[in-house]
Amino acid sequence: MQDLIRKLLAEMGEDPTREGLLDTPKRVEKAYKFLTSGYDADIDRVLNNALFTVDYSEMVIVKDIDFYSLCEHHLLPFFGKCHVAYIPSTKVIGLSKIPRIVDVFARRLQVQERLSNQIAQTIHNKIAPLGVAVVIEATHLCMSMRGVEKQNSFCVTSAMEGVFRDNTRTRMEFLELIKLRTAAGGSRESTSYACVGDE
Ligand SMILES: [Zn+2]
Repeated sequence: MQDLIRKLLAEMGEDPTREGLLDTPKRVEKAYKFLTSGYDADIDRVLNNALFTVDYSEMVIVKDIDFYSLCEHHLLPFFGKCHVAYIPSTKVIGLSKIPRIVDVFARRLQVQERLSNQIAQTIHNKIAPLGVAVVIEATHLCMSMRGVEKQNSFCVTSAMEGVFRDNTRTRMEFLELIKLRTAAGGSRESTSYACVGDE
């Protein structure tokens, strides 16, 4: 990867041999490896048996999870907050594992809609809850830095399954708890389109 970065620097009009840039390829490689480490992550290992049997079915909610990801269209960051809720049927996931699941999928090249869906799908697959909801609010540098559709550089997406999709009261209770009244209200999937990769 370091050779590619040196070539990239030259293509940008830089001199990759000048002092300030000498170690840049090494640093960039290290940074990208970390930012895409989600490809190597094993969800079962991340969860590490932190699944517990319960006999209640109250909503479990983890909100304001900070995340950082890279948009697959421009390789530029998008970042913000992720809110996750589910209603258990027989099992719960250890609370500290929810942000770990978010990281596994955020540390890949992503689009915001898919990130929401993958988090919801993973929880669905692992504990088969009565419903799962994921809302992501994010700022996309590929839009705000480039001055493209500035007003839309902040995007909200949601993935709702089971009772969150079928039951308006459950969905509203969740949205109330995360204090997000825009978007997501009655929709099933994405509520707005983040970086659409048109340029
Ligand atoms: Zn983008």
